[in-house]
Parts: sequence; C-alpha cells; structure tokens
Amino acid sequence: MTNLLKNKNIFPILSLLVAAVIGTIAANQFLFMRKEQPLHPSPALSKIEKLSVYNPNLTGTHGDTDVYFFDSGNPGGTVLILGGTHPNEPAGFMTAYLFLENCELSAGRLLIIPRANASAFTHNDPMEGQPQFITIDGKNGKRQFRFGSRITNPIDQWPDPEIYLHYPSGQKLAGNETRNLNRSYPGKPNGSLTVRVAYAIVNLINTEHVDVAFDLHEAAPEYPVVNAIVASERSQDIASEAAMMLEFEGIRYSLEPSPYNFHGLSHREWQDETRTFPILLETANPVQGRLRGRSDEALIITGKDKMYLRAAALGELHVPFDENGIPLEMRVARHVAAVQKIIATFSEYHPESAIEVNGIPAYEEFLENGLQNYF
Ligand SMILES: [Zn+2]
Repeated sequence: MTNLLKNKNIFPILSLLVAAVIGTIAANQFLFMRKEQPLHPSPALSKIEKLSVYNPNLTGTHGDTDVYFFDSGNPGGTVLILGGTHPNEPAGFMTAYLFLENCELSAGRLLIIPRANASAFTHNDPMEGQPQFITIDGKNGKRQFRFGSRITNPIDQWPDPEIYLHYPSGQKLAGNETRNLNRSYPGKPNGSLTVRVAYAIVNLINTEHVDVAFDLHEAAPEYPVVNAIVASERSQDIASEAAMMLEFEGIRYSLEPSPYNFHGLSHREWQDETRTFPILLETANPVQGRLRGRSDEALIITGKDKMYLRAAALGELHVPFDENGIPLEMRVARHVAAVQKIIATFSEYHPESAIEVNGIPAYEEFLENGLQNYF
C-alpha cells in the first residue's frame, strides 16, 4: 500500500519538476528579449544622449533610448535617421545600425535613434510565430539583433482602450494602435509611454533644428505603399528629384504624398509641428505579409517565400517578386541608396545647410560586398 502511494506521488512530482524546468527556460528566453544588443558606433561619434533629455517623463522607462550624435565640426545642416519605429521591420533598424557603425561626416551633423520604440524591441507580436532574433555573420563573428513587435510592449502600456482617440485631432483608430509610435505623433509630455516617446522625438527635431528627418520602415508585399518614398508638402520637391535620380540608377520608388487627414503619422505631424523635411521610406518584406508561409529567421534574411511566389503569379503583389525573393540585403541597400540620394539632393538646394555623410557604400557596392561586411 505504501509503495503504491509512493508510486502515485512520483508522477505529480516529476510533472512539477518538468514544468519548473520548462518554465525557467521559457522565462530566461523571455527576459533575454529585454537585453539590448550592443551597437558599435563609428569613430565619428561625438556623444550619446538619452531621448529623455527631450522629455524628462521618459526617464527610467523602457521608452528611454539612446540618441547618437555624429558632428563633423564643420558648418552645415542636421539629418535625423530613425530606425525601429516598428521593430518587426528589420531593414529599417538595420539601415540605422549601418549608418551608426560606418558613417564619417565632413559637413553638418547626423543624429541617429536606432531603436525609436525601444519598448517594442522587448517583445514579439503574439500569434505571428516570428523569431526573436536575426543573426548576421559579421566581420568579427556572429551578431544577433532583436526582431521585435510593431507596437509598445503591454508591460509598459496596458490596457488598450477599445477605440484609440488620437491626441490632439480626436481621430479614431483601433484600440491597439494606441501603442503604435507611428500613430502617436505629435505626442505630449505626459500620457501613455508611446505618446511620450513621440513628443520627445518631435521636441528633439525642433530643439536640434533637424533639417531632414527619415523614418525607416518595411511593409508587406501586398500593401499598396511599398518600395515607396512618402513625402509631405515641404519635402515633395527633394523627394521627387531624388526618386527620379534613383530611377536613372535602376532603383525604382513610387512617390507617395503624406495624407493631410491621417493624423499621428511621423511625416504628417513632423510637417505640421516642426520645420524639418520629413521622409518615410518603405521596402517590401514578406515576413510581415498575411500570405507568407513559415515565419523563420531565414525568411527575414532571404526574403524567399513560395506562397509569395504564387501570389506574384496571381498578380496580387505591388512589387516584383521571383524565386530570388527580396533579401534583407537588398531591402537595406534600397534604404541606404534613398537616404543618401535625398541628403545629397537637399544639400544641393540648401548649400548653407549641406550635410556630407561618407563611409556609407553606394547601392551596387553594398550589394557586391554584402550586408555582413558592414557589421
Ligand atoms: Zn512600419
């Protein structure tokens, strides 16, 4: 009888032990997502500030992130590059990292916020089955970079309202858009974490007299605004000239106007609340699409997906898509080419505010050398 009781107890005890081991492994993986991977700024770095300098109400939160300043010491204008507005759009943040780790400046200043929504880097979108990291086999060995979520982590901002009322327009959006940085501009000093981050970025643009501000994104290949330069009224002239020059070089972009009545978007509110020339760039990334197959690291890096091949054959996509896919390298190359061309075009028309960023490869050179050569 005693033996039987003992045997009966072994199974529940073992089950608890197994659950504890699995729970510990899962908890460690979960907490590891909050650890920031190191970035290695180029020798042109002048200083690193916290975003909370521009909104003290961010101090001590997961929204407080690093702002990297590269100052040539020579007169000129100021450019801002935002990566990681949406941390599930890797070409956006990898382009910001590439500038951060490789730039040299000979005129003006370059400011980089590589993890604009730092909280959104600390988790993944539920139900999407996307990986936590991407790995690049870089110059000095393998490097892991966090792949995050489109929106702020609910541990930092919760619960979502049923309907998100944008401040100050009163525009109505779905409740979870309240955690979307690119629906939260111009923001306010107090309020949700996401609007506080948005406010800090707008305040930084004004305080630092940013001439040209880039917000780097990716979108699903079936989304109409893709391989696009989105420009507001102020930046349309330089954007259209840059798009034309890029087309001469065989890099096609569609030019999209910033909608007047869609509030909360970076380009819309930067146009209205600052004096900068706002630009948003989109590339096509299958890992974000609804038609994709398996969502692993390989899909992010290679951009190859047989479901998208079928969708392309049916004419459902807004970008060319073949068996070569749209690799991360190509998507970063497009962002790099567009950023450089737009800076050059702006500088041509505003010689007193010219910005010269060197050390960044041209499109063909970048594709030849490979993404891994710059990390
Ligand atoms: Zn985006």
